[in-house]
Amino acid sequence: MGDVTWPELPRAKTPTEFNVAGRRQLIGLTPAELAAWTAELGHPRFRARQIFRWLHAAGVKSFAEMTDLPAALRTQLAEVATPVTMEQETAQTAGVTRTAKYLYRLTADQEKVESVLMAHDYGWSACVSSQVGCRMGCAFCASTFGGLVRNLTAAEIVDQIIMMQHDMPADQRIGSVVIMGSGEPLENYENVVKSIRLMHEPDGLNIGYRHITVSTSGLPAAMRRLAGEDLPVTLALSLHAPNDELRSRLMPVNRVWPVVEVVAAARHYAEVTGRRVTIEYLLIAGLNDNPEQAVELGRLLSGLLVHINLIPLNPVAERPEFRRPSADRVRRFRDLLGGCGLTATIRREMGGDIDAACGQLRNRATRRGRRTGIANDGET
Ligand code: SAH
Repeated sequence: MGDVTWPELPRAKTPTEFNVAGRRQLIGLTPAELAAWTAELGHPRFRARQIFRWLHAAGVKSFAEMTDLPAALRTQLAEVATPVTMEQETAQTAGVTRTAKYLYRLTADQEKVESVLMAHDYGWSACVSSQVGCRMGCAFCASTFGGLVRNLTAAEIVDQIIMMQHDMPADQRIGSVVIMGSGEPLENYENVVKSIRLMHEPDGLNIGYRHITVSTSGLPAAMRRLAGEDLPVTLALSLHAPNDELRSRLMPVNRVWPVVEVVAAARHYAEVTGRRVTIEYLLIAGLNDNPEQAVELGRLLSGLLVHINLIPLNPVAERPEFRRPSADRVRRFRDLLGGCGLTATIRREMGGDIDAACGQLRNRATRRGRRTGIANDGET
């Protein structure tokens, strides 16, 4: 360990390169950027606030609907900009778990991303993707089998929420967001951070920073950078194993940044922000769900400001050898952690009946294996 390096992501395209037919994707602009842009077009800055509200709070998808703007401005906007970054391709709902899973087609290049809307007792939460595909290569994850296609723009990350919000009854709103769909958010750092600031805007979705969670497979440098952003968001670390031997088998990223380094970065995050870090621990039958492993995990995390979220595996078709442990075994694991003085909860099963394990819907809709991951392309 330590002699392996993680390949750099090739330069991401800039958001303007995703503009459709030369039209600017306005959702990705902050209020200040939108005001500057509106001023450049020769309009008073207060128009920007109206436009921002229409785009982010009302979620309208045409300038014609922005009824408090002068007709001439609406026509001009339609010529140079677009309020659309994606179209809904399919939606599946599961009544029992009150979960809806959406597949969106991105207007810029017809790629597809998945997003999930979940009803909790505390309200609605949205799970959004940060990349098309993923290059992390985790053995159990359906999002990564086709490799990474590209980063999402900030506009495309936020628009997933706007689209889902628009699909809900008018008196209900999305109150929390988890960036836990396809992709590694910390590999798309700038766009993800910008999208977080956009979802927080009071004139827009108005989602509290404390209700936003960024989930990472464990990139220590980026975790530390996020700690310094002064954004009180929750960091979730996908740990999934208590030691390097097992974690490296499940998550190739661990061969570069081992357990001790990611746990140190999680500790740093908790210390700097004062916020409890979520440790995600996927339970796979016979692999990482033994009582000894619970105790090993307990020792590893003891004394840390963390909450452990136990996730019984969502089986994926491509990996039939990975199975979900019995409910008894999951509870046993939780209780052993409790015995170590740690708080652990079992994630309510969500959407297993609608392919809600990351990437499964897109895999079904896309021809698999069409692309290879950057990590597998030899671009090291
Ligand atoms: N790349 C980030 C965020 C996307 S994955 C990360 O790794 O955290 C979001 C979460 O879903 C991670 O904890 C991931 O390990 C988990 N996950 C992936 N495949 C899963 C499966 N088949 N069943 C249950 N959880 C899964």
